Amino acid sequence: MTPEPLIRPEILALKAYHVAPAEGMVKLDAMENPYALPAKLREELADVLSRVDLNRYPDPSAPKLRELIRRKMAVPQGMEVLLGNGSDDLIQIVTLALAKPGAVMMYPGPTFVMYAMNATYFGMRAVQAGLRDDFSLDLDAFLKALREHNPALVYIAYPNNPTGVLYSEDDVLAILTEAKGLVVLDEAYHVFARKTFMPHLAEFPNLVVMRTVSKLGLAGIRLGYLAARPEWVDQFNKVRQVYNVNVLTQAAATFMLERLDVLEDQAARIRVERKNLGEAVKAFKGVTVFPSEANFFLIRVPDADRTFEALKRQGVLVRNLNSPALKNCLRVTVGTPDENRILLNALREALQ
Ligand code: PMP
Repeated sequence: MTPEPLIRPEILALKAYHVAPAEGMVKLDAMENPYALPAKLREELADVLSRVDLNRYPDPSAPKLRELIRRKMAVPQGMEVLLGNGSDDLIQIVTLALAKPGAVMMYPGPTFVMYAMNATYFGMRAVQAGLRDDFSLDLDAFLKALREHNPALVYIAYPNNPTGVLYSEDDVLAILTEAKGLVVLDEAYHVFARKTFMPHLAEFPNLVVMRTVSKLGLAGIRLGYLAARPEWVDQFNKVRQVYNVNVLTQAAATFMLERLDVLEDQAARIRVERKNLGEAVKAFKGVTVFPSEANFFLIRVPDADRTFEALKRQGVLVRNLNSPALKNCLRVTVGTPDENRILLNALREALQ
């Protein structure tokens, strides 16, 4: 028996999200924080984790962790916090809850591919609209598409992945005002852009603010969170897997969020390096660097496939996004000063 006749045709047509093997490479393909935790913190964390009861199910509501997030992330009074197994999980939860047959999901794109993948999983019609050739937001075009398609759900990556562009606050406010459906502001790169819609939650009953600790330096523990009115979170909780945040993640996140300054200091170093790397890449002839408020750059080179392979041969892994919408584009994560130096040397070589 073969699976094909039984699998839904739209799933057959999907490509699984690709994660390239990275062993031994300078890994600049996944927007991770390149810095390890200080040795003393690692020891303390090991001690905390050694006392976690692995034989028990996690607390499905994780009240202490949610309270800590509320406090550390300035979640406004009256808003509720929902946790996910990464924000990937939260995207699934929100999409699943809103995916009425025939309902539309909209997003300015090209953007994070998981939105479209989730539209496919749950049978929403995905409509991408509103980005110009330089990946800036064409508000009029987006609003026109919004009126035409009346989406139940809008995702706005703020700043956007894979472009790094941060849309203007006024443009996003205009979308929030006009949208009749739910608008999710995906602030995965908040620690680098330091702009947020958190304070607007009370004003807009159709707003959800989604974040992750991944880019902050905790990609391995898989923890995302969203803030929204309790009415929304009540509905999302019905489709959440009860034990979606495991005991080790809950313990590690609680430990690290109490020491958030360590991760924020690392993010500040990455922001400095972002400036240095951006300027250095801009100096290469024939390379376009798009403006980024995140911890990566989208760059356009004369021949992305060739440059990607040449970087790989030199031990540097970036993301090749070459496609009709992102012609000859590569996405490069900001690394440590050493990693960035290796990247720049390899890029010089690769572009010859
Ligand atoms: N949203 C955006 C815009 C992202 O770029 C990413 C990760 N690449 C995610 C969400 C998912 O993050 P995680 O599942 O690690 O929380």
